Amino acid sequence: MTLTHAREVLKKVFGYDAFRPLQAEIIQTVYDRRDALVLMPTGGGKSICFQVPALTLEGTAVVVSPLIALMKDQVESLRANGASAAFINSMLDASAARNVEDDLLAGRIKLLYVSPEKLVSQSFQPLLRRLKISLFAIDEAHCISAWGHDFRPEYTQLKFLKEQFPDVPVIALTATADKLTRKDIADQLQLHDPAIYIASFDRPNISLTVRPGQKKFEQIVEFLKKHPGQSGIIYCLARKTCSDLSDKLNARGFKTGFYHAELSPRERNQVQEDFINDRVPVICATIAFGMGIDKSNVRFIIHYNLPRNLEGYYQEVGRGGRDGLPAEALLFFSYQDVMAYRQMVEEGEASAEQKELKIAKLDRMYQFAEAPVCRRKTVLHYFGEAFDHNCNNCDVCKNPPRQFDGTTAAQKALSALLRMQEKVGMNMLVDVLRGSRRREISELGYDQIKTYGAGREYGFDEWQFLISQMLHLGLIEIAYDEKNCLKVTEAGRAVLYNNQKTNLALPPKPEEKAAEKAAAARTPGRTQGLRDELFDRLVALRRKIGQQQGVPPYIVFSDATLEEMAQKRPISDADLLFVSGVGERKLQLYGDAFIEEIRRFVREKSGEGQSVQGSTYLLTWDMYKAGRPINEIARAREISTTTVVSHLAVMYERGELVDFSAWASPETLDFIQGALHQFEEPYQLKEIYEHFEQRFSYEAIRFAIADAKRKKWKQQQG
Ligand code: ADP
Ligand code: ZN
Repeated sequence: MTLTHAREVLKKVFGYDAFRPLQAEIIQTVYDRRDALVLMPTGGGKSICFQVPALTLEGTAVVVSPLIALMKDQVESLRANGASAAFINSMLDASAARNVEDDLLAGRIKLLYVSPEKLVSQSFQPLLRRLKISLFAIDEAHCISAWGHDFRPEYTQLKFLKEQFPDVPVIALTATADKLTRKDIADQLQLHDPAIYIASFDRPNISLTVRPGQKKFEQIVEFLKKHPGQSGIIYCLARKTCSDLSDKLNARGFKTGFYHAELSPRERNQVQEDFINDRVPVICATIAFGMGIDKSNVRFIIHYNLPRNLEGYYQEVGRGGRDGLPAEALLFFSYQDVMAYRQMVEEGEASAEQKELKIAKLDRMYQFAEAPVCRRKTVLHYFGEAFDHNCNNCDVCKNPPRQFDGTTAAQKALSALLRMQEKVGMNMLVDVLRGSRRREISELGYDQIKTYGAGREYGFDEWQFLISQMLHLGLIEIAYDEKNCLKVTEAGRAVLYNNQKTNLALPPKPEEKAAEKAAAARTPGRTQGLRDELFDRLVALRRKIGQQQGVPPYIVFSDATLEEMAQKRPISDADLLFVSGVGERKLQLYGDAFIEEIRRFVREKSGEGQSVQGSTYLLTWDMYKAGRPINEIARAREISTTTVVSHLAVMYERGELVDFSAWASPETLDFIQGALHQFEEPYQLKEIYEHFEQRFSYEAIRFAIADAKRKKWKQQQG
């Protein structure tokens, strides 16, 4: 098997033109029958790495996956593309399982998804031994490691695969594995000298933004207004926050649901289904939500609370934008969250060592939220990946904070702290600096201190921003054991008493934010106007088809595919095949419906007098199909008959039926086509015309070329 075959299948079955980074290398490794260990971020395209070999190699590929819901989804996706796939797990009843077994033994199944429990069970062994197995793919391979948080004991029994099938290549895939886990995977599965592939964990299509956690609700309302109808998840720490937030948002006219562990399995399933099927676009959920979901068109992830560590943050963020289109990650940051979680850890059951680790990870998390450094750089460095440029797709890159000599500002804050005996937290400190008239302040006598109101030049948010940096720079620290009061450190004293210079940054100016808002208001990846309208219509059509067929809409076509359709406006089969994500099967199943919708759109728009791309062919075509003669079409459309014929040739090339016997006989076509190889594409009609010494008309040449091209793409389609 060669990569050429692999590319053919990629195009024919999945409708994709090229492999993503590492996919081709990984597939080649499987063809070489060597074991492989693949680390790719969520949405990186792991599935293709085993699905393409499975579809090209002889026999059945056995895919182990721990998430039953995901299994069903993947099988549905494959089937929608015309690939023969099935799953066996506890969800299947006995007769359905027997059908799958029959299909397997008859060699009708290229990809079999099994749960690890099933695969290792004794009852499954006889069947397994009777199959011709092309490869084993172990998805979510990190579940094998007792070090990880998703440990699945059955995974450790998978070593029997290499023992019993030493010649079948094993490909282990995961999105989360540090060095230790990686070694664990290779050891436990007893991989033979596996080829290791580590893809970049960068997800450049996801923009990363951190905002101060004040007035979160209003901020979310604003955000949702700018993303009407789009799918997104709002992660909250507490169960109650999920339901409260969802209720409040619904009261404001948004359509949201909530999800947490206290719901019954049936309710949870319902929420998940509603989300997957685009019935409820936004879900307020605890982090359990999204684990078993492969929905590719999640357009935003909001963290209502600070995640506990960067691993969690990035994993959750990774659930957005799997289709490669722009997605947004918005994190609300507040000290209250840091302190609340810290307290939880400290009062928890864990060993001192584990507590320390958790707190160290939390520290890294909030440093990420605070540091005025490119967010992507920070996360990727955390995961040990070199990333040395600015990403230009995070809030810091897009809107760099304003650096200034912050010595005086820092001194004001430090002095105020000391004058209040270091007995206050962040909010009180800011209020005193800003000269707030809060009762508590006068009761405590803080309005009498010298620095009361000395910091009015900065707003509340700006002071918070500055004090965060002071924490960061180690000028102050939080006394977690003293009700989270702020304390001045040695370094802080040096600034206050020795005039040690310190640089600080202020948050971006409000005007700049306005520009950012305007940019954000534009739906990601789309230009406004006509295309948006068409996109929305295609989305509606996709939902309708999904409903009719009982599959989630994104299985019909991904957002990315619809985007491209809305942009390119394919009005024929041939055009549609050029759209990424349209393979043969989907062309057959859905091609007509989508083409019809696009044609309807183009007609309507040109009927309204707008000039729309693609409309001229279509107008000619509609009249031709209505049986009107060429010269009449030319007159009605105020174009020449030559132009009318050229339009018809284009439609013919794209797969429509045109009777062109009046211009060219089959012999003429053959004759002209026999000489085409002497010319270069794009063909110059005049050149060909002269080559044949004017023996054939321009119309005949046009149709000969159209016919050659039509044959070519039809042939490529098999
Ligand atoms: P993972 O399992 O790594 O999270 P998937 O395999 O689900 O990721 O792939 C994520 C998305 O990218 C899917 O919609 C998939 O169809 C798409 N994809 C994968 N490979 C390609 C490719 N070569 N070209 C275009 N899209 C691709
Ligand atoms: Zn950046």
